[in-house]
Amino acid sequence: MELLCPDSVPSFLGLLDLSIAPPLLFYSYIPSILLSLLIGFYVLIRTNYSLLGKILFSISFFFALWVLNVFVLWVAAYNDAVMFSWQINPLIEIFIFIFTIYFTYVFTHPQRSDVSPTIKLLLYLVILPIIVFLPTRFNVSTYDINSCEGVLSYLWIYMYGFEVASIVWILVIGLSRRQRAMKGSEERKRVSYGLFGIVAFLLLFVWSNIAGEIFEYQVISLLGALGMMVFLGFLAYLIVRFKIFNLKLIGSNVLVFALWIITAALLLIDDVRLLHIIVAITLVLTVILGVFLIRGVRREVFQREQIEKLLSELGKSNDKLWVANEKLKDLDKQKTEFVSIASHQLRSPLTVIKGYSSMLLEGSFGEISDKVREAIDRVFQSSQRLVLVIEDFLNISRIELGTMKYEWSDFDLREIVETVVRDVKHTVEKNGLKLFFEYDTNLKYVVRGDQGKLSQVVSNLIDNAMKYTKHGSIKVKLEKFVGKVRLSVQDTGIGIGEETMPKLFEKFSRASDAGKTNIAGTGLGLYVAKEIVTAHKGKIWAESEGVGKGSTFIVEI
Ligand code: ADP
Repeated sequence: MELLCPDSVPSFLGLLDLSIAPPLLFYSYIPSILLSLLIGFYVLIRTNYSLLGKILFSISFFFALWVLNVFVLWVAAYNDAVMFSWQINPLIEIFIFIFTIYFTYVFTHPQRSDVSPTIKLLLYLVILPIIVFLPTRFNVSTYDINSCEGVLSYLWIYMYGFEVASIVWILVIGLSRRQRAMKGSEERKRVSYGLFGIVAFLLLFVWSNIAGEIFEYQVISLLGALGMMVFLGFLAYLIVRFKIFNLKLIGSNVLVFALWIITAALLLIDDVRLLHIIVAITLVLTVILGVFLIRGVRREVFQREQIEKLLSELGKSNDKLWVANEKLKDLDKQKTEFVSIASHQLRSPLTVIKGYSSMLLEGSFGEISDKVREAIDRVFQSSQRLVLVIEDFLNISRIELGTMKYEWSDFDLREIVETVVRDVKHTVEKNGLKLFFEYDTNLKYVVRGDQGKLSQVVSNLIDNAMKYTKHGSIKVKLEKFVGKVRLSVQDTGIGIGEETMPKLFEKFSRASDAGKTNIAGTGLGLYVAKEIVTAHKGKIWAESEGVGKGSTFIVEI
């Protein structure tokens, strides 16, 4: 395919002679001009005239201008026009490279900031020789009428030299910025993709130029423009929507688009050799696209199968878990019901035991010897404690079954505490401890609550004080604050360690050394007390200076 020199052949508007252009020219160059302008404008508007958008627009603009210029070179009807195209070319080409370097600087910058004035000056300086020598014979020395081409001079060596240097320049900046970004980070990915797009764009430019100019193989230079379009589009995509970036998706889109254009071009080409080349390219693209698609579909099917398998397994194990959970709940309920029934059954005979032993001690059945009194007293004390334990069990099962009921009334808490104190006084003193009850006789400690339940709380606290105190005293005190009544039970017993304190009011919680003092504990008393106090919208807490330093339990209602 030899170029013909434009002469008096029929021309388009008298300016262009379209008959001398190879058919591929129209399929490659005209879409390239339109598409690059379209991409440029699109990015400019989508990025709200950002710096990157402006730079990419400039690249697209000069690229479109360059393609147009080469197009004119092919089809100009006058030698003068051809000569002009040759001469103006370096200026357009240098701008493409300058703006691409500028683009690299901004795109790979973590904040997309503008370059420093020094680098800007450097870029201006690179353009300067082109501007100065553009109209001189250092640009295009003569016009070769035989090949219809300009004879290129030193300026072109400078330009090609700069083009190669700028690719190196871009690689150095891009790779060092990539190195600085964190491994595996989004930023690093962005820089890598951007660098790939930029370098591919420029390499294709240089390569199709060289192949076109030096090897005089025009198909390469003609298709090069289309390839560059692809990378320009790629860069535009990177700027506009990197976040939902899917390389494979874009790849297949680009391939499909390219296939459309090439297939359409096939219809208009009658040169068999050219047809072969284009069919070969089409075949390669179809194979790549095919592999893409088949792999994509296979992966999709595989993933769906995996998901379905997982879902069904999840469903099965969920079912199993649910059944097991229901079973456990059921068992737990049965246990609670059993505890409730057992406690109820134990309570009535125990009341009889307690009642009779109390009557025996009071002498209701006549005089008893000291030895017998001692024994009966033991029976009485034990049954008293057992009543408390059973009451705790009953309360626990009520709490768990949700059947805990409160009978609300206003009453003086002093009366309740007094009764409990009177009941246990004998036992406390038997254990060698002193029991004090402090309150202000002029005050009434009226609270609203359930008398029985609060009495249980008071009993539990005093019973604990007794259990965990070997020597000393127990001081029960009632105080009154604005709208609140405070009960405190202070002892001189084993105290509470820091590690026990936070778990004191939990179910079944006992200090590790509690067993030493009192083996019979259940770890339920304080839990029940807390439940009851909370139901009264009150507070319960413990204070202790530490192990061996006694403790105080405080209830505020
Ligand atoms: P228990 O039946 O074990 O007494 P509680 O719930 O009444 O169960 O008490 C829980 C734990 O709190 C006890 O095991 C003991 O470690 C600690 N505790 C309760 N009251 C006192 C106290 N007055 N002095 C020291 N430790 C106490």
